[in-house]
Amino acid sequence: MNEPAKALPGASRAVAIGSGLTGTLAAQALSGCVSDVIVLERDYLPERPEPRKGLPQARHGHHRFYSGGVNAMEIILDKVTDRLLDAGAHRIPLPTGMLAYFPQGWYRRWPATHFLIACSRDLVDFTVRELVAAETNIHFSKA
Ligand SMILES: Cc1cc2nc3c(=O)[nH]c(=O)nc-3n(C[C@H](O)[C@H](O)[C@H](O)COP(=O)(O)OP(=O)(O)OC[C@H]3O[C@@H](n4cnc5c(N)ncnc54)[C@H](O)[C@@H]3O)c2cc1C
Repeated sequence: MNEPAKALPGASRAVAIGSGLTGTLAAQALSGCVSDVIVLERDYLPERPEPRKGLPQARHGHHRFYSGGVNAMEIILDKVTDRLLDAGAHRIPLPTGMLAYFPQGWYRRWPATHFLIACSRDLVDFTVRELVAAETNIHFSKA
């Protein structure tokens, strides 16, 4: 599933605009196809998992990544799940670990088929950026 990156003919540099999840993961995906990738970000990027102006949605109830998204992220960025768990995120098996009350009563806690990673959006943002920034040919720059 995770095919090796192929060089893009005639392209040596790629530019991603914005260092949210999309821009950062795009930079990682492109890093094997070009000689260098620049991520242009207009916001200040904190050196810890902290709120930042450019990611205002992180302040809202925003604390879960379902397995489909996590698995997709893992294809692009190896070991990202382990890094999140090491940093304090929780892996909740679903529906086993879910408590949900409907008009018909409590949802049954069936054996797990999926999972979610529960943590702050700021932790996801920071962890992904830290892993991607470790690539020698990816550079973050102020827009
Ligand atoms: C209230 C709320 C709750 C949510 N809860 C969840 C949840 O629980 N789980 C989940 O998976 N998703 C959730 N989402 C969705 C999630 O926030 C978005 O899907 C995700 O943030 C999109 O990522 P992105 O990288 O495309 O954009 P963003 O995360 O918005 O990142 C955009 C980046 O681009 C930068 N930027 C913007 N303009 C420029 C420019 N001109 N030049 C340079 N840089 C620029 C910004 O500073 C920022 O760093 C929620 C969204 C909201 C609003």
